[in-house]
Amino acid sequence: MEKKETDATERIKPLRKFGQNFLVCREIAEKEAQFGQNKNVIELGPGRGMLTRELCAVSNHVTTIEIDKRLYDRLHAELINEEAKNLKLINADFFSLNEKDMGKFDILISNIPYNISSKLLNWLIKNDVEAVLCLQKEFVDHMLAKPSSKKYSRLSVFSHLFFDLEHVASVPSTCFYPRPKVDSEIIRIKKKRGAIAGKDEMAVISILMEHKKKKFRNALIDSRKKLGISKDEAVAIAAQMAVEDRIFKMNPEELLAGARKIIGITNKK
Ligand code: SAH
Repeated sequence: MEKKETDATERIKPLRKFGQNFLVCREIAEKEAQFGQNKNVIELGPGRGMLTRELCAVSNHVTTIEIDKRLYDRLHAELINEEAKNLKLINADFFSLNEKDMGKFDILISNIPYNISSKLLNWLIKNDVEAVLCLQKEFVDHMLAKPSSKKYSRLSVFSHLFFDLEHVASVPSTCFYPRPKVDSEIIRIKKKRGAIAGKDEMAVISILMEHKKKKFRNALIDSRKKLGISKDEAVAIAAQMAVEDRIFKMNPEELLAGARKIIGITNKK
């Protein structure tokens, strides 16, 4: 009887809309779980529970939030049999929950659906949460990219200004079922302490990064309408900053300093 039930649940068809690719390499789960040792952990999207089981083994307490009722039910049935006592399962959209629903926790450890990567980074900043995440390799390459490199982008500047990042492990696509088209990377993400960029500053940096190949001065002049400054003001800011480089060669701190100068002017208007 029990066997039959397992077979039936094995047939849960992975849904693309929820970004379902399930981890099948246990050693990866073990490595990720180490970051939750003796901590209270939250997991977004436990899926079939490979990481969940490793987390339960080493951490103090685990709360999982799974959007797909089919997977939630399956995990619930399996883990109750396995008597995982330090586990709480929630069936919900992660982003619909508030602090109270989630309870107190120290770290978020998850293999997430790739399509929510940016949304989750914003959530980490807003809620000041540390995380260990498995993300699409291409996305991580952009996060870690340095000025002057091909992949240096808005995401690189954003990641550098807001986070301390540590590469944990590379994960081949064969470690997931169904096998995704791309490889993944696990990274540890900690929010930087102290004053960092605000919403307005990031909005200005985004506008500048749209002109990546232009010199700072020309990028300012060309995007002056969007930025809310005049041509003279654009020229004056560029002169003050004394930056001759093209935008993609400027490091995040320089871009932030530029953004602050622009906001200094627009705020007075
Ligand atoms: N972490 C699991 C599953 C990865 S697939 C593993 O490593 O095997 C991503 C999981 O996130 C799926 O189970 C999917 O149903 C779930 N999910 C997707 N969007 C979600 C959301 N907004 N809130 C909670 N769970 C979500």
